[in-house]
Amino acid sequence: MSDVLPTIPLDTSDSLAVLEKSRSTAETFGIPLAVLLEITHRCPLQCPYCSNPVELDRSGKELSTEEWKKVLSELAEIGVLQVHFSGGEPTARKDLVELVKHASDVGLYTNLITSAVLLTRERLGDLADAGLCHVQISFQGIEEGLADRVAGYKGGHRKKLEVAKWTRELDLPLTVNAVMHRQNLHQLPEIIQMSVDLDADRLEVANVQYYGWALKNRAALMPTVAQLEQCTRTVEEARERLKGTLAIDYVVPDYYALRPKKCMGGWGRQFFNISPAGKVLPCHAAESITGLDFESVRSNSIAWIWRNSEAFNRYRGTGWMKEPCKTCEFREIDFGGCRCQAFALTGDAANTDPACALSPLHETIFKQAEREAEGETNRFLYRNFAGGTLEDENGA
Ligand code: SF4
Ligand code: SF4
Repeated sequence: MSDVLPTIPLDTSDSLAVLEKSRSTAETFGIPLAVLLEITHRCPLQCPYCSNPVELDRSGKELSTEEWKKVLSELAEIGVLQVHFSGGEPTARKDLVELVKHASDVGLYTNLITSAVLLTRERLGDLADAGLCHVQISFQGIEEGLADRVAGYKGGHRKKLEVAKWTRELDLPLTVNAVMHRQNLHQLPEIIQMSVDLDADRLEVANVQYYGWALKNRAALMPTVAQLEQCTRTVEEARERLKGTLAIDYVVPDYYALRPKKCMGGWGRQFFNISPAGKVLPCHAAESITGLDFESVRSNSIAWIWRNSEAFNRYRGTGWMKEPCKTCEFREIDFGGCRCQAFALTGDAANTDPACALSPLHETIFKQAEREAEGETNRFLYRNFAGGTLEDENGA
């Protein structure tokens, strides 16, 4: 389930010792405490903002059960404490219970990031028995009509509500993940209430970030400035009102920011994920940057890749920066923003992320976003292995 990323650990110093001494820039950064495992790109949903690459890994390329178990053991050995089973839809893998059990046996905290539509009560119980620690379920809206249309999957919303209920009955902590955009932002107050009613601990209000499938669907998803301002007010009010009941994380679309987000905590500093085919990536969208060669768990150890991979070292730290980042006072705060967005919008991943007001492209893209937000394009290009399917004019 690849619509939003889990929280990135901020302090990795405890695991620094597990890396061998090296002169690489990675010496400064310990292995992250939490790692995202995209165990498959298969998914019955077709969300138009999916953060999976446009070129999806087919099932024949996926790591086998034994290979994923080896990855889990290796992660535990090098100091990782927590794994997020994600995708695609992780429950599409028949061996998920076995993988969760293995993760638990080697001492990893396990989180399932799921669209929930493939789960049965029995399988969720099996996952809990195998040691699953936490469940995150994505919602596309508050009612079937819109939610199922966004997901491109009939009956999905009803099933998600059911699985959320089972999750709490099994005493597993629940996070609701709501990906927000122009076509569902008006439902935010009810989504907040739904999260309370479902007894979730946490709600992630994640405005769409525009790369991969979302970039293809930008004109249909981009919120207006007025919507975004209302969204921020709603979140602030709810945070105050629901203190101690529901924690709310909030991600703003960076086209409307003046400074870019510290994407992934900085390239190769605090985060990596593993793709279905076993590539170790500095971020889930990194393969969209052409010309970078990502190493696989099949050919090298994960600690070696983290420390030595050319792709990780290319944009680590600040040495690779051009102006205006190179001499900017914020360069060690935001690390120049998102490399994938810089590549997608400027053609060069070493450029300043155009989300930054100091980028020469910022004004152009902001104006374009405003035009798209006010425009009439509402049809989605659904995410699938065929390279996308355009929604019918009548919304089917
Ligand atoms: S299509 Fe939707 S549910 Fe499936 S992986 Fe992408 S964002 Fe997640
Ligand atoms: S110029 Fe670069 S370092 Fe400075 S704020 Fe913008 S993105 Fe960050």
